[in-house]
Order: sequence, then structure tokens, then C-alpha cells
Amino acid sequence: MLSVEEARERVLAAFDVLEAERVPVLEALGRVLAEDTVARVDIPPHDNSAMDGYAVRAADTVGASPQSPVPLRVIADLPAGYVAEAEVGSGAAIRIMTGAPIPAGADGVVRVEDTVSSGDWVEIAVSIQPGQFVRPAGEDVRRGDLVLPRGTLIRPQEVGMLAALGCAEVRVTRRPRVAILATGDELVPIDAPLTPGKIRDANSYSNAAQVIRCGGEPIMLGIARDQAEALSGRIRAGLAQGADLFLTSGGVSVGDFDIVKEVLAAEGQIGFWRVRMKPGKPLAFGHIGEVPVLGLPGNPVSAMVSFETFVRPAILKMLGATDREGMRVEATLVDALPHKDERRHYLRVRVAWEGGEVHAYLTGGQGSGILSSMVKANGLAIISEDWARVEAGTRVQVILL
Ligand code: AMP
Ligand code: MG
Repeated sequence: MLSVEEARERVLAAFDVLEAERVPVLEALGRVLAEDTVARVDIPPHDNSAMDGYAVRAADTVGASPQSPVPLRVIADLPAGYVAEAEVGSGAAIRIMTGAPIPAGADGVVRVEDTVSSGDWVEIAVSIQPGQFVRPAGEDVRRGDLVLPRGTLIRPQEVGMLAALGCAEVRVTRRPRVAILATGDELVPIDAPLTPGKIRDANSYSNAAQVIRCGGEPIMLGIARDQAEALSGRIRAGLAQGADLFLTSGGVSVGDFDIVKEVLAAEGQIGFWRVRMKPGKPLAFGHIGEVPVLGLPGNPVSAMVSFETFVRPAILKMLGATDREGMRVEATLVDALPHKDERRHYLRVRVAWEGGEVHAYLTGGQGSGILSSMVKANGLAIISEDWARVEAGTRVQVILL
């Protein structure tokens, strides 16, 4: 049996970063930057006020207090978006709004709360230091900074930063196209009636949703019967649509009656592996023509967990993402695990923050066909292959879903 890491390394070796394209910044959400973004401006571009108040010379406020306020003459009003024409001389102040550029001559801001206004005069009731409530130019980003390196996943905050930098369009890696094919005589499409002996194809949809979540574009090839010609036909259709990766589910188990193995082997090069993990032990990997193929197991939870373990990192590699690890937390497993073998188990759990600790609860049956416990789960707890038993109270790492 291969370890998860060995299998993943072999899979990842088959993928390279895809080409880039330019898109409007909002369409870059969820995608990966294909270029370094260097700031061409300071943010903020000018020293500005952090408060509504009065721009003053700090030296004028020395000794000011509520008992002995210092009167200053108010020579102008400065809203955000405008530059003061007047200079703040000694004994003067400019009323200033948050975000307005600090006027020449001033070196600090007194908050409006620390003043009493009376006509053209303001009484300053505190002494301030130079720089008080001034946000200096470049405080957030300096011109020339590498703000967002290539490989950054673009989230809403990156979109905001790109907007602040004036990047209306950005270069991102194009979306990997992932062909998805379900196999099995027992499967019927989502909208077909369930006739005796049949079940609906869930995997095409859960896997396609996973593809979308990782920034790829699914190509839905439907269901192939367990019959060689049908399968070959579907595979060609997928290749014709320009797939960067071919995903199948079902028909890869040892001793399987299914035809998938035969056909994949006939159409290209394929290896059938047993990976030291549960669920998801059987995995097929190879190529059809130039296109890498991953054959996921058919059980709905196995197909999803194998996707998380092997396909997600492959898609992220094609995207050139720097960070290919999902978010993990450490938690205390509340339940014991009744059966443990020599494989790495991925348990469906719900993690919750309780009493100052993160707890992980099993969400139900852990059979590889039990999709409802996957639905209830917000994480996969990793149980090491080296552990013989798993007691309640064990500390585990949890991959957040
Ligand atoms: P297989 O690996 O083809 O032997 O399938 C293992 C189990 O997963 C069987 O119970 C199949 O009926 C089920 N299965 C296979 N493909 C799908 C699918 N696309 N959706 C739901 N269940 C599936
Ligand atoms: Mg099958």
C-alpha cells in the first residue's frame, strides 16, 4: 500500500501551472494571481487625519488641559477629498475631517471631543504630541512594495487591495477544466426516475462542486455504463472538450467486476493503487493521451475524501497557488473510534468551540457510502496510520471542510 504522501507526490508530479489570462478584478475572486502586484502608489497617498477634529501645531498645545484650555483661531474647514489652501501658523487651527490631508504647517490633530468650539475660535483642552492622530502616507502600503505575490489566492480582501492599487484588471491563472465521468450500470441521472436496482449519480455533482470550490471548471460527461464502448466514447468526448484533468468515479476497487480499469488501461497508461487511507483506499492514476486521469472510488464519501486528498492539491498546483494546504485545527476528539486499522482514517466530524477548547464530534456512521454524516460534518479528523486505538479525548488534527 502507498502512503497518502507517496500517492500525492506521484499525482502532483503530473501537473504544471496553466497559462494566465486577464480578467476584471471582481472576476478574479477565488482565483490565483499569475503576476506579482507591486504598488505604484503609497496607500494612503498623503498624511491624513485619523479623526474628526482640529489640525494644529503640537507645540501650540503644550500645557493645555480642561482647566486651562488653549484658544486657537479656526482659519478653515477641511472635508475629506480636499487640500487646504491655508497653512496652519502658530495660534491657528483648521477644522479637519477623517481622511482629509494634513494641512501644511500642522503636525497633529486634536479630536473634536477634546475641544470646545466658539465661533471662529476653538479651545484645545489637551496637549498632543507631534504626529498625534495623523495617518502617515504609505502607512498601509509603500510604493514599490510587493503587495500580492504571484500565487496568491484572491479573496475579498485581496480584491479590495487590488482596487485600492488601481488594478481594474489582473492576470490570473485560467481555470483548470476538469472532465467528470461517473461509471456504473446502477446509476441514473439526477432527473430520471428511480427504477428497480438503480441509484442516482451523486458523485458527478459532489465532485463538480468540489472542482468549482477549488477554482476549476467542471465538464459534466454524465454516466458511462459498465461497458467498454460506452466508456471509451465518453472518454473521447471529454478529451474533445479540452480537459486538463479527467476524473472518473467507481470501478477501481480490487476484484471489481467493473470495466473501468480495462478501458482506462486500453485508452492510456494507468496504475491501480491501494492507498493507506480510509475511506478512499483504491485509486487509479495515469494518462489518456496527454491528459492526467484520476479514478476515484465509487462510494460517495470515498470519492469526496479522495478528491480532497489528491484532486484539490492537483487543481491548486495547476492554478499555481502557493498555499495548497487546507486550513487545519487541532481538536479534542469527543468520541472513541470503535474500529481502527493500519490505514490513516479521515473521520467525519463537527468541530465546535466549547468552554475554551475545540471539540470534534463524530457526525454519524463512518461507512464510505454514508453521505449524510458528510453533510453534517464541517471537518475531517485525521487519525494517524500509526495509532492502534483511538480513545475519547485524543488530540487530533482536523481538516476544515
Ligand atoms: P464501485 O467502486 O464502482 O464498485 O462503486 C462502489 C459503490 O459506490 C457502489 O455501491 C456504487 O453503487 C456506488 N457508486 C458508484 N458511483 C456512484 C455515483 N456516481 N454516485 C453514487 N454512488 C455511486
Ligand atoms: Mg461501479
